[in-house]
Amino acid sequence: MNQEFRLYNTLTSKVEPLSLIEPDRLRFYSCGPTVYSYAHIGNFRSFLTADLILRTARVLGWKTTYVTNITDVGHLTNDDAIDTSGEDRMARALRSAEGKRFANVWDLSRYYSSALLADWRILNLLEPDVQPRATEHIREQIQVIEQLLSNGAAYQTSSGVYFSVASFPNYGKLSGNYAAEALELAVRDVVVDPEKKDPRDFALWKKDDQHLMQWHSPWGWGFPGWHIECSVMAQAYLGNEIDLHAGGEDLIFPHHECEIAQAEALTGKPFSRHWVHTRFLQVEGKKMSKRLGNFYTVRDLIQQRNVAPLAVRLALISGQYRKPFNFTFSTLRDSERHVKRFQEAFDVTKDAHDRGTEGDPNIGDALTDKRNAILSALLDDLNTPAAIAQALDGIRTILGHRDALGIRAHQFIIGVSDLLGIVPQTSLLSGKGITVGHYLNGADKDDSAADDSPTNTIEELIESRAVAREARDFSTADKIRDQLSAMNIEIKDNPNGTTWERKSDI
Ligand code: AMP
Ligand code: ZN
Repeated sequence: MNQEFRLYNTLTSKVEPLSLIEPDRLRFYSCGPTVYSYAHIGNFRSFLTADLILRTARVLGWKTTYVTNITDVGHLTNDDAIDTSGEDRMARALRSAEGKRFANVWDLSRYYSSALLADWRILNLLEPDVQPRATEHIREQIQVIEQLLSNGAAYQTSSGVYFSVASFPNYGKLSGNYAAEALELAVRDVVVDPEKKDPRDFALWKKDDQHLMQWHSPWGWGFPGWHIECSVMAQAYLGNEIDLHAGGEDLIFPHHECEIAQAEALTGKPFSRHWVHTRFLQVEGKKMSKRLGNFYTVRDLIQQRNVAPLAVRLALISGQYRKPFNFTFSTLRDSERHVKRFQEAFDVTKDAHDRGTEGDPNIGDALTDKRNAILSALLDDLNTPAAIAQALDGIRTILGHRDALGIRAHQFIIGVSDLLGIVPQTSLLSGKGITVGHYLNGADKDDSAADDSPTNTIEELIESRAVAREARDFSTADKIRDQLSAMNIEIKDNPNGTTWERKSDI
């Protein structure tokens, strides 16, 4: 079945099918966090949009390469304006009251990166294929800046290297911010480098031999601008042209507009076909802010308020990514109840599955229809409220017909787990996962805290493959076989089940 995956494209202002450069293969880049403090639930609303896109794509049987970065340098306090003046967020965090406990900015960055990975896993987000750090790609950024200089898209002043917006006539095509006057207005409060040729020009490299994080470059000591990191790492891992790029709505301008300029000035080819942006989360009807006392990190909810991690996840995806979203504690309480019911439904259907029960075919049919309806809702511009409503409906059916359940009921739950990630048990598509115990005991101090026991992972993968085969989802089953093979594990199917052994090394 050839199904379209329709998403709103900020570039064309239309809901349109993702059109892939290569059939059934998604090259996807999503902007990650700046690791100067703990990630908050707003950040995760945006990361979860990317996660749901990835899950849906995988269920469609697409091969996916998913890259999401960690910004650990170059994101200035004034990056919301175009001029990229201001102070590096990491450096400022080190001087804050919280920052005093870190020896230096590298230490701070490591700590918050590990905390991010723990939050990522506890909320059951899929592992990215690559999670590159800006500071590990300075060389690539310098090389691209050199190329932009040599093809006339950039110039040097005594304070840095700037992208010349006038050299790129398409600047503004994503955000609609074409008018020079409007851009000037946006930067009026910012210290402007008098040597800049045009107020719209933005920094690719800042010269600064006093900065806490600095590298040697052809322009002396300094550090890269924030925008250059993302286009360079996206192109390094996904190629010059990619299918999809995502982030929160604040990134449309200037960050993504600048990424397009840099990437397209470099190659002369369109950078990303599709751009998806998540509307900002509000809390109890207000902008989330520390000043208003309504600012929540993931760990505030899980550690301080004892909320089940998957309930946080469910609450955060309960609104469609493009609509205004009001996070409330009443939604969170509802989500906790729902997550318990998902768990209960998992347990009863697993039991039916393990006994090999066929179950009532009418119930099986109804649940298969619901699973398809969940997928259809996600394919329709990630309509999560409709998808969750279908999932809850299925759970009601399951818990109301406990004696009529069979293998297909369990497949329904696995389907919900794959697509929405709100069922506790790991499934084929789940991320690495960490236990709540690990998380509460400070998994953030050690990002290897996830249960990486290779034998567990192999057994889990084999189990997931068996479930996929029973559901006649052979493309998924084959993918797992490939994954195992990449881990040097050979599997053999025989009448009593599947056995595995390690391939000899050479
Ligand atoms: P930052 O750490 O500021 O670079 O943000 C990381 C990601 O979170 C970006 O994609 C932002 O657009 C997104 N983001 C920040 N605040 C919110 C919010 N309140 N709601 C949704 N997304 C957000
Ligand atoms: Zn970015």
